[in-house]
Amino acid sequence: MSGDKYDLIVVGSGFAGSVTALSLLETCKAQKKPGRVVIVESGKDGERCGASRWTSAYLRLDKDNNLDPARIDEMDRVSQGLHNRDYCAKMYVEVPKTMAYLLEHGVKINHHVS
Ligand SMILES: Cc1cc2nc3c(=O)[nH]c(=O)nc-3n(C[C@H](O)[C@H](O)[C@H](O)COP(=O)(O)OP(=O)(O)OC[C@H]3O[C@@H](n4cnc5c(N)ncnc54)[C@H](O)[C@@H]3O)c2cc1C
Repeated sequence: MSGDKYDLIVVGSGFAGSVTALSLLETCKAQKKPGRVVIVESGKDGERCGASRWTSAYLRLDKDNNLDPARIDEMDRVSQGLHNRDYCAKMYVEVPKTMAYLLEHGVKINHHVS
């Protein structure tokens, strides 16, 4: 790797890092440009690492794959008002776009009523 050149160096192979790498490579492919990405991971070889390894991928969506507004109220309640409301508002806007991306990439969603 020493001396090699990359378009992107991603630190961490969790969801954030993996999707960042995928996104860059998809953009390069769409633009018919070569793209070289390296993902650097400090975890054990051959094992999934970080929080992404443990998630049950419970996404708290409504039936239309929007972030359930009750989730924001829940955050308010469990954090006793200490959570970042701007962050939640941003998530509310970004979740439908993210869900569209995941569905386009073949991710299957199971809706459970709880
Ligand atoms: C038990 C559990 C249950 C969860 N359940 C849910 C759920 O139901 N629904 C939900 O939406 N979210 C859930 N989450 C949260 C979700 O898993 C995380 O928000 C998400 O996985 C974070 O992804 P990430 O890529 O940002 O971080 P991570 O997956 O933690 O990835 C970071 C990576 O960076 C690596 N790294 C760190 N430092 C370095 C370094 N210096 N050099 C190289 N590599 C480094 C780490 O080893 C790791 O692999 C859960 C989390 C846990 C722990």
